[in-house]
Amino acid sequence: MRTFVHTSHPARVVFGSGTVDRLDEEVRRLGGRRVLLVSAPTLDDAARRVRDALGDLVVAEFRGARMHTPQEVTDEALTVLSEAGADCLVSVGGGSTTGLSKALALRTDLPQVVVPTTYSGSEVTPVLGETRDGRKVTRSSAAVLPETVVYDVDLTLSLPVSTSVTSGVNAMAHAVEALYSADADPATDRQALAAISLIARALPRVAADPADREARADLLQAAWLAGTCLATVGMALHHKLCHTLGGSLGLPHAETHTVILPHVLAYNAPSAPDVMRRIAQALDVPDAASGLADLVASLGGPTSLRELGMPESGIADAAGLAVATPYPNPREVTAEGVEELLTDAWYGRRPE
Ligand code: NAD
Repeated sequence: MRTFVHTSHPARVVFGSGTVDRLDEEVRRLGGRRVLLVSAPTLDDAARRVRDALGDLVVAEFRGARMHTPQEVTDEALTVLSEAGADCLVSVGGGSTTGLSKALALRTDLPQVVVPTTYSGSEVTPVLGETRDGRKVTRSSAAVLPETVVYDVDLTLSLPVSTSVTSGVNAMAHAVEALYSADADPATDRQALAAISLIARALPRVAADPADREARADLLQAAWLAGTCLATVGMALHHKLCHTLGGSLGLPHAETHTVILPHVLAYNAPSAPDVMRRIAQALDVPDAASGLADLVASLGGPTSLRELGMPESGIADAAGLAVATPYPNPREVTAEGVEELLTDAWYGRRPE
């Protein structure tokens, strides 16, 4: 018999096509009458659709969200928010935009409605990573958890195939690490396996036709499931490495996840054979690590840290940082082991 403790985080989830039209109702449900609309510079179309849906409820807009939630951007947005007297946050965009909304909620306690346009899953987690003076600090707090998530598949149709692949693998990483997490339970196991299977089947369909609504819906559902896993159980070596590479070397978030994940699967395989078998089954391949590497390569995704701009000289330092503090992982994490893993990832070797 399995013994477990499961803590879930509350979230109201509205899912479908054309669901932005329900934003007005969702904002009013939270008591909002004066909305600050938060988005990123490249999201004109999505921001326009949300603005149109909200009409007069929008009293101000901030379009400056950036990756890793820099403190100075949050300060700028806070000024706009207080000058406008906003009483509710609505954000539309990827994990970077959701991060800014969470940072604002942390400081103002305003309710949030988040409209995700990538597969990062941040919208359902109580986690916020912020950067100040070049250092990334991550915290977990119920105060940053969005009250309502409105998934509108239509807003994801414009996500380029390359970003869809890397963001999809970012979601898959949450699911993979949930399966061998020290806190895994039967609910997260099922969510994780469903997410992996949905992503593996939907990505080739999106690559063939980025406007395939059903495939997009599968990816968005998988993002929600995998994000819920990330919110519920602790992560391991993969997330630690990606956090280190993003924080210390400024490597791009989803792309780094995409390169690293097959190598972490290979590293952990000897210590978690049953989990690897279930992942391989969900991916419908004989071996989890090489099967995932082949999937990414077939979709034109990045396969080496070198192509992400990481200098080879950074490998030893990154390995040192990744082992500096102990954390749970199925296989013992050693500096030599991680250095070897990062070297393979740097060269883009296919994991065996
Ligand atoms: P992102 O939000 O930076 O988006 C990537 C790019 O895609 C941006 O240029 C964006 O403008 C563009 N884009 C987004 N949606 C689009 C769409 N529908 N059509 C066209 N272009 C679109 O990247 P991301 O990978 O979603 O998020 C990364 C950030 O999220 C990082 O800061 C990471 O730390 C954070 N994150 C946090 C959590 C958490 O639980 N706290 C989880 C995952 C990621």
